Amino acid sequence: MTKQSIGLDDNLYAYLLDVSLRESDVARRLRQETAGMAKARMQIAPEQGQFMALLVELIGARKALEVGTFTGYSALCVAMALPSGGRLVACDVNEEWTAIGERYWKEAGVSDKIELRLAPAIETLDALIAAGEEGTFDFAFIDAHKPEYEDYFERALTLLRPGGLACVDNVLWRGRVVDPAKMDGEDTQAIMAFNRKILDDERVSLSMVPIGDGLTLARKRP
Ligand code: CA
Repeated sequence: MTKQSIGLDDNLYAYLLDVSLRESDVARRLRQETAGMAKARMQIAPEQGQFMALLVELIGARKALEVGTFTGYSALCVAMALPSGGRLVACDVNEEWTAIGERYWKEAGVSDKIELRLAPAIETLDALIAAGEEGTFDFAFIDAHKPEYEDYFERALTLLRPGGLACVDNVLWRGRVVDPAKMDGEDTQAIMAFNRKILDDERVSLSMVPIGDGLTLARKRP
């Protein structure tokens, strides 16, 4: 009997990718270009992109939200999984990073599905709520400034329809959440507080998935 999630050493991880990753050529090249950047670690793992694309398909999402776009890999994965006419509102503050993504979105033919909002995400989310889009989103990916996770999550929950799904990234934070020598940082503390709080949040059904750097799935209960 398996009593806990399996850990992946390099060999097993390579095998997982070998027998399951279906990455488009455009996505692979975006990942390769991003890998050369100083902040490359902010990009999600390819198997996580594929997992989120599958979630988007499973819930039949048409309207999605992303908080923290970086160079656009996750947005590319989600947008490619949305049906034609689908819409992804992508929030970020960095024009340089998102410009990289925009090149690949165009190449992949999904530019018309992605609405990039260059502004602090809280402002964009509040603007969406003020514009009457409350309860209209099917899917939300939260992956920006860690100390604001709770603020993003509250707004995302407002914007999601009942049955809509929020995915929150980096919830295992490279193990710092259990490392006494490293857990005093602001980001780590924020993630730890978020994880504790959502455990008791009866508004959502919950699962923390050890994919990438840890991904919490929270479904807004009807
Ligand atoms: Ca992340």
